[in-house]
Amino acid sequence: MTVLVLGGTGEARALANDLCDAGVDVVTSLSGGVESPLLPTGEVRIGGFGGVGGLTRYLRAHAISKVVDATHPFAAQMTARAALACDRTGIPLLRLSRPGWRHHPGAADWHWVPGSDAAKSMAERLGRRVFLSIGRKAVSRFRDWSDRYVLVRVVPGTGLLVPVMWEVIHARGPFDRDSERDLMRSRHIDVLVTKDSGGDQTVAKLDAAGDLGVPVVIVERPADPPGVDLVDSVGAAFDWVLSP
Ligand code: NAP
Repeated sequence: MTVLVLGGTGEARALANDLCDAGVDVVTSLSGGVESPLLPTGEVRIGGFGGVGGLTRYLRAHAISKVVDATHPFAAQMTARAALACDRTGIPLLRLSRPGWRHHPGAADWHWVPGSDAAKSMAERLGRRVFLSIGRKAVSRFRDWSDRYVLVRVVPGTGLLVPVMWEVIHARGPFDRDSERDLMRSRHIDVLVTKDSGGDQTVAKLDAAGDLGVPVVIVERPADPPGVDLVDSVGAAFDWVLSP
């Protein structure tokens, strides 16, 4: 049995490591968008497949028996393509997506928005000095804020062109509440813009914003494709792979 794990998340790495330890052949696939990514054990391939057709060909050529889509909750294109390719080939597919932050204490006061453009309009109503923690791709939607200070945080190895008044920090979680509070206070941040990534690694910014009375604008997750089995933990994905 060879399992393809669509990766780019801590959960994907943990799953690949656990499956390798259990003697399963695993190939983890990464997009190649980040220089020097953290790698799991087992085989790793890097780069896009070339759309649904390319992924379909890859699945057949490598005799993949199961696919776990453990990409980030906001990697909607890869998730949709995996669903189509697995439907075409009849290969079982599982979506592993960590729980979101909707039930986090404090979430009642957050401003939920459907996408980056809505996040931008909402943030403009709420403040002026923004902490933008929304991922590299979405940052481009905010670039016309060239007349204001914006703090952007992205993972190391992410290339980013931003207006001169902005500050870019390259850092990878986990972050703790005290340092997040210090960071926001030192930059006089008055609104946090983020997305519902979920998990423990980056949640501290939300607690810190609550401590400082900084409003939070949070982008809702894209919907998962209908008809695909869904789990929210590495353990459940591991059991699914090993089930007959
Ligand atoms: P996306 O918009 O859903 O995908 C764009 C294209 O990138 C896909 O069509 C595919 O190209 C390729 N791709 C994406 N994930 C891939 C993977 N695991 N293996 C091989 N090709 C992949 O994805 P994204 O939002 O740019 O995210 C890219 C990667 O970064 C994902 O693996 C994701 O898990 C990780 N990540 C994303 C975020 C985020 O906020 N979006 C945050 C942390 C990590 P082809 O169509 O050519 O196959």
